[in-house]
Amino acid sequence: MLIVMDKNATGPQVDAVIHLIESMGYTPVPVPGSQRTAIGIVGNSGPLESAPFLALEGVKDAIHVSKPYKMVSRDFKAEDTVIEFGDVRVGAGHQTVMAGPCAVESMKQCLDTARVVRAAGARFFRGGAYKPRTSPYSFQGLGEKGLEILRTVREETGLLIVTEAIDHENIALVEQVADIVQIGARNMQNFSLLKRAGKSPKPILLKRGMSATIEELLMAAEYISSEGNRRIILCERGVRTFADHSRNTLDLSAIPAVRAVSHLPIIVDPSHAAGRRDQVIPLARAAVAVGADGLMIEVHCDPTRALSDGPQSLYPAQFEQLMREVGALAGLVARAPAR
Ligand code: PEP
Ligand code: MN
Repeated sequence: MLIVMDKNATGPQVDAVIHLIESMGYTPVPVPGSQRTAIGIVGNSGPLESAPFLALEGVKDAIHVSKPYKMVSRDFKAEDTVIEFGDVRVGAGHQTVMAGPCAVESMKQCLDTARVVRAAGARFFRGGAYKPRTSPYSFQGLGEKGLEILRTVREETGLLIVTEAIDHENIALVEQVADIVQIGARNMQNFSLLKRAGKSPKPILLKRGMSATIEELLMAAEYISSEGNRRIILCERGVRTFADHSRNTLDLSAIPAVRAVSHLPIIVDPSHAAGRRDQVIPLARAAVAVGADGLMIEVHCDPTRALSDGPQSLYPAQFEQLMREVGALAGLVARAPAR
C-alpha cells in the first residue's frame, strides 16, 4: 500500500503515518517526489485495510499496489529514477555508454581500451575481474589483480568503473573499486547475492536473466530495493529463443514494457544479445530509438586474442562509429512519456 499525503501535510502528520505503520510491524518507505509526499508500506504479506490511514490528518489517499513488486514500481514512484555520478546521470533518458572488454586481461589491454572508449565519449569502463563462465576450463578472470587494474584505469582515465560481483565473497572486494556493481544474467535470481547487493553502498546494474520475464526481473530488483539500496539500473541483454542467427534475441519491447511499470533506468547490452559484432551497431541504434537510457558495449583492441567474448567485441573504429551514430540518433529521439 502507498499512503499519499496532502501536499500541505505537516511534518508531524507524516510522522504519525510512519508511526502507525511501524506499530503494525511493517516498514515505512518514504518515496521522494516533486509533486507529493508518499509513504510506501512494505513487509505485509496480504492486503491492508486503508481505513486506519485515511482517518489520520493530512492523508489524502491510500492506494493498493497491485503488482507483486512495490518499491521499483511506478505505482510507488511515478518519476523516473536518476542515479548521479558527479556530472554523469543515468536514467530519465540521459544517455550513458558503458564500454570495455568482456574480461580484464592485463593493465595494457585495459588502459588501451579505456583510452579509446573515453575518447569516443563513453563515461564508464566495463570489464570483469571475476567472470561467470559456462565452462570451468574457460578463463575465469584475474580476480583481485583485475580489480587493481580497474582501480588504475579509474585513476588514469577518470572513467567510472562497472564490474561484476559473482558471489558473496567477492562483492565486498568489488564494491571497493566499482562505481557500479554488476549482477550478471546468471545471478539474476541468486537471492542471497541480491540481498547482499541491497546492502551495498554502490549502485547495482542488474542484468536480465536469459530466460527471465519482465516481472521476474523486477522482482529481482525488488530484492535489492527492499534491503535499502534503491540505486538500481536494469539491463536488457537478450533472451534465449529458437533463433540461431544470433547468440540471444534482443528483446527490444522489454524497454517500453519496463518503463511503463517501473521508474528504474534501463540500459541495453547488444553485445551479449548478438554474440557477434556485425549485429552490435544496428542493435545499439535500435536500443536508443526504443527509449533505452544507455548502452553497455564490449570493445577490445585485439578481439581475435580476447580471452572472453572476442567474436562480439567491437574494434575501436567500430565503437567510434557506434558512438557517432547513436549520438546522432539520441538527438532525434524525443522519449515518449513512460505511460
Ligand atoms: C558480462 O557483462 O560480461 C556478462 C557476463 O554478461 P551477462 O551476465 O549478461 O551474460
Ligand atoms: Mn562478455
